[in-house]
Amino acid sequence: MSGATLIRVHPLDNVAVAAAEEGLPAGTPLEGGAALREFVPAGHKVALEPIPQGGEVRRYGAVIGRALCSIEAGARVREEMLELPQPPPLDKLCAPHAPPPELEPLEGFTFDGYRNADGTVGTRNVLAITTTVQCVAAVVEHAAARIRRELLPRYANVDGVAALTHAYGCGVAIDAPNSEIPIRTVRNLALNPNFGGELLVVSLGCEKLEPQRLELPSAELPLVRLQEAPDGSFEALLGRILELAEQRLERLNARRRVPCPASGLVVGLQCGGSDAFSGITANPAVGFAADLLVRAGATVIFSEITEVRDAAHLLAARAASADVVEDLRREFAWYDAYLARGGADRSANPTPGNRRGGLVNVVEKALGSVAKSGRAPLAGVIAPGERAARHGLLFLAGPASDFICGTLELAAGMNVHVFTTGLGTPYGLPACPVIKVSTRTSLARRWPDLIDFDAGPIATGGMTLEEAGWALFRLILDTASGRRTWTERHGLENSLVLFNPAPVT
Ligand code: CA
Repeated sequence: MSGATLIRVHPLDNVAVAAAEEGLPAGTPLEGGAALREFVPAGHKVALEPIPQGGEVRRYGAVIGRALCSIEAGARVREEMLELPQPPPLDKLCAPHAPPPELEPLEGFTFDGYRNADGTVGTRNVLAITTTVQCVAAVVEHAAARIRRELLPRYANVDGVAALTHAYGCGVAIDAPNSEIPIRTVRNLALNPNFGGELLVVSLGCEKLEPQRLELPSAELPLVRLQEAPDGSFEALLGRILELAEQRLERLNARRRVPCPASGLVVGLQCGGSDAFSGITANPAVGFAADLLVRAGATVIFSEITEVRDAAHLLAARAASADVVEDLRREFAWYDAYLARGGADRSANPTPGNRRGGLVNVVEKALGSVAKSGRAPLAGVIAPGERAARHGLLFLAGPASDFICGTLELAAGMNVHVFTTGLGTPYGLPACPVIKVSTRTSLARRWPDLIDFDAGPIATGGMTLEEAGWALFRLILDTASGRRTWTERHGLENSLVLFNPAPVT
């Protein structure tokens, strides 16, 4: 095979990752004269030098753990050999002495999008039906299916119908602390730029989450309240929803794509099913593309608080202002307390699949995950359920669960989603294109019609990081202009999942 077989990410590292798809056999020579002492599967780590008991194990130039036993050069470094380092204390987070330099602006990149009255830009043209409670979900799904079948063929410019259904609204402590998080998420989902400001809400009538609590910006909210319809037959209820839907379809259908500067993009990043290649190939390629997007004036959102917590000090060092450090501290502290209340801590992440993929602990996962954010200054922090309020690189302080993270990024105003995966997940979202990026070529070959971009050649020398980053940037622009991703072509749409840290009664 050509190219690298062992990848050391940073000159300070004393471990490297086996890059060969088939793993590396015992006896494979290492730089410095040692050889592998045993078979090392792809994605797993090898000690490049002897590491004494208590010594630092370093990857990405940072300590991912201390050795619990002495590790010989050429030995495979296993999870049980490492002690998990303590997370950086939040009171020690400090702003950089001087703000990090802005990246050089990048001019002239555009995409064809749908301009909205509020200044946002849609990449898809979708009719959304907001719901206030799970009780109406089945009715709304039924209505959405009929709209797709009976109405949509007459509105060629409308891409689809999204039923924004969820499990919230009934039996919730509506005024309890943190209940504002799911409520503002439902509100801000309805305002996603891909819905063009055309609201339609279906409620039941007796639920805790009353439609006016959403404070949607509409003089007269187009609302169907199932319990209060004068004719409550199922057919009449559906007829009323279809009638209001048709009015919205008329207006959505009049929208046209027009050239828009790349600054209209709101790109949400995420990873799921990560492996040890995530931090070598897919995430750094996404990070390179993220820098290009920020340079072009776009908004880039990364998230997954538990996967970033162990790199909090690295994020603080990139903060554009002391306020951003304060926001980071507040959100991290809130999340630490939230996990502690549930008797969990960050060691609950990684997953068994992550571990099989070669990630020994959450510190290693965090360092690889943060690579997605590139090197732009951190311009702001988004609390869960809030909208992105500015351009540049933003951190959304929400859970790493794929569906919750995707839902929160949609509520933040995301119009293109980029999702990296090592082990593979068929995840898709309603109403927003999801570009799937594989960490290895073997996955892209195994899932040829699910993976949109293969970052694997970075590990084998087939493509430089820079080439991959530019190619991904162009794919993001093309996708924003209407090129359909694999999950869109197959119609794969996972459920929205609200983050509700408040009590349910
Ligand atoms: Ca995730």
